[in-house]
Amino acid sequence: MVDGERLWKRLSELAEIGKREEGGVARFSFTPEERAAKNLVASYMEEANLAVREDAAGNLSGRREGRDPDAPAVLIGSHVDSVSNGGDFDGPLGVLGGIEVLQTIDEEGVQTDRPVEVVAFTDEEGARFSLGMIGSRALTGMLSREDLRHEDRDGVPIEQAMRDAGLDPEKVGDAARSPASLAAYLELHIEQGKVLEGEGLPVGVVTGIAGPVWLRLSFSGEAGHAGTTPMGSRRDALAAAAEVMGIVEEEAASTGSTVGTVGQIEVRPGGINIIPGGVELSLDLRDIDEAVRDRAEGRIRERAEEACGRRGIGLSFGELQRLPPAPCSEEIRASIAAACEREGIRPYALPSGAGHDGMHVAELCPMGMIFVRSKDGISHNPKEWSSREDCETGCKILYLTVLDLAGQT
Ligand SMILES: [Zn+2]
Repeated sequence: MVDGERLWKRLSELAEIGKREEGGVARFSFTPEERAAKNLVASYMEEANLAVREDAAGNLSGRREGRDPDAPAVLIGSHVDSVSNGGDFDGPLGVLGGIEVLQTIDEEGVQTDRPVEVVAFTDEEGARFSLGMIGSRALTGMLSREDLRHEDRDGVPIEQAMRDAGLDPEKVGDAARSPASLAAYLELHIEQGKVLEGEGLPVGVVTGIAGPVWLRLSFSGEAGHAGTTPMGSRRDALAAAAEVMGIVEEEAASTGSTVGTVGQIEVRPGGINIIPGGVELSLDLRDIDEAVRDRAEGRIRERAEEACGRRGIGLSFGELQRLPPAPCSEEIRASIAAACEREGIRPYALPSGAGHDGMHVAELCPMGMIFVRSKDGISHNPKEWSSREDCETGCKILYLTVLDLAGQT
């Protein structure tokens, strides 16, 4: 069985790379910290007797052949990049858990029918370039030259950062995998929410990954003197935006499943004594059910138009991103649930509100995810925590699921 001590020791070692004074980690893509993390992970892959390679997009993988080398592989993945001042578990648990599973299979001398691979994807978080899941996009062949022009805060585009890291952006197409080469994709990840903690369960079976819509709302009113313009003759862009923010909350809450967030706001001209003439809002809407999400979006748009019309404010919507939800494969869900039962754990199904690489890999092969209980639901924060026992339990479930999907004849 999997070695929980070894997994925990590796999690602690990896967490030291990019550790900041505030206690969190910062490992952005194509930086020395990320390189050091990948080198450490590659050394673990070698200890697990895996064939290690890095593809044209910087995805680091370790492979163990099956009885039939031409059979499609079972792929286990996650990431080692982080947000700024992030936690120790988001990403590393899935990569190190995957290596632990393969090392256990090796030590037990188990021969699987299918090859099994573990991959650390390049830049899942999008913390540096505001474009996440770079590595898994490349795997599907959907990483475009346009995508590689996204810049970081210093104006360095992805393609330049890749060159600086010794990768050739002209060749990212080589990282694409054919659907025929993959049998299944599995990811072990912390829940980043409080559902499992509330249920008193160490692990859960993910039903699917919610699809996000990202919009930018631009409000145009008229700037004016805060002292001399009567309330009845104002065209206050921020007051209109505030009403729309209330509408977002109401409409998302009324669905019972959609979540809506305004995370950015820009006010022009931004003076204490000036009526705001222009406002830009970001809007993030997500749901596991695309139709429910899109209906909520429709009602928000309609009611926002009405509010702005009533207030004499111009309103326009820009679309930054629209991804469909990615349902997990029924077959993989059943396999994970069976593994839970074998370990005496009640199988519990829950959706993922957060995005993961599996959203993209699902375009290539059936996808499944196992969640591990997060303490207080805290994530993207130095306080992010899952216990040693829960990490080990999650890894055991991953091990049983991999053996089931990779086959033993
Ligand atoms: Zn993650």
